[in-house]
Amino acid sequence: MKVIYLDNNATTKVDDSVFEEIRPYFTELYGNPSSMHYFGGQVQKKVDEARQRVASLIGAHPDEIIFTSCGTESDNAAISSALQVFPNRRHVITTRVEHPAVLTFCRGLSKHGYRVSELNVDNNGCLDMDELRNVIDENTAIVSVMYANNETGVIFPVEEVGRIVKEKGAFFHTDAVQAVGKIPMNMADSTIDMLSLSGHKLHAPKGIGVLYVRKGVPFRPFMVGGHQEKSRRAGTENTASIIALGKACEIAGQYLDDENVRVRAMRDRLERELLRIIPSSRINGGGAERLPNTVSIAFEFVEGELILLYLSEFGICASSGSACTSGSLEPSHVLRAMGVPFTCAHGSIRFSLSRFTTDDEIDTVIRELPGIIRRGREMSPFGRELLNS
Ligand code: PLP
Repeated sequence: MKVIYLDNNATTKVDDSVFEEIRPYFTELYGNPSSMHYFGGQVQKKVDEARQRVASLIGAHPDEIIFTSCGTESDNAAISSALQVFPNRRHVITTRVEHPAVLTFCRGLSKHGYRVSELNVDNNGCLDMDELRNVIDENTAIVSVMYANNETGVIFPVEEVGRIVKEKGAFFHTDAVQAVGKIPMNMADSTIDMLSLSGHKLHAPKGIGVLYVRKGVPFRPFMVGGHQEKSRRAGTENTASIIALGKACEIAGQYLDDENVRVRAMRDRLERELLRIIPSSRINGGGAERLPNTVSIAFEFVEGELILLYLSEFGICASSGSACTSGSLEPSHVLRAMGVPFTCAHGSIRFSLSRFTTDDEIDTVIRELPGIIRRGREMSPFGRELLNS
């Protein structure tokens, strides 16, 4: 059965040309870039090139790029650095809809004497900026607000957040793991101090990330040991993955327009058609600015897991809006924070497209999903009532 992969916010396929680029770095060019001999030096040159390519995608300077092991490490490192730089500031601000890479880290801080404020969002997933203005003060060390949400694709006004943060002299970090490569950004002209990205969300392998740290922003390393990454992240570089990420960023830059025109058009057609043909369906975050590739759609009175199961009969891969908490399925913290009613949150499905998605694949989803939702609704009393109404 052909796989119809519409779960690109979970992870992406490694681009063929990315894979080709790194092949030699596993087999022939396995030197350590820190070695003094020419053999290691060849690898160092490619690492430098990768740093340049990553910087170029986000409008940064290569010296501002620190390679890490993943988006999670970048998020943890950014917050931890700010707290070390400002030992007397004991307040951290984040949002209720962050990825656990930020949220779990911040919640852990409250056990160590920090005050942690989690900003609310409205029904569309938009950030409460007044709340930010009210809670931030001279005791705030760092504000960490994501660029775009992984579940709904809702984009936050990060530049405006950064301006508010600057007035209080705190650091501003953004988790841009879902945004980089999907929408244009330019750090040279930005209020962001630190930004996280992750390779496996943009057609590079898993296990490689970046923390961008603006020039002049003091940084204290999370990982200590050797002098790699100018002593900002110890550990022998994951050279093949770094080179892969560089290539993936170069390609992502070339496809930014495609992402915003062709991918967005496919996503819009998918959601328009599903809303038209499936009764009691709605888009989570539909009233907000969103990433071009993401749609989170709620179907009332049907279990998301059941929808995923039925979708897989057609080879279609997507995600549900539930998370397994203590052995039971709960609506995700993002949908709960948005106040999505339980009956909708339980039946929420996220489709996330990529440049490899085709119109034919979208046609298949539009053709098969109405029957799947009907089958699912037949399993519940409220669903049957809806079908008979
Ligand atoms: N932040 C966001 C918004 C994400 O979507 C993810 C991964 O899903 C991460 C952070 C974690 O990235 P990684 O898997 O590279 O640790």
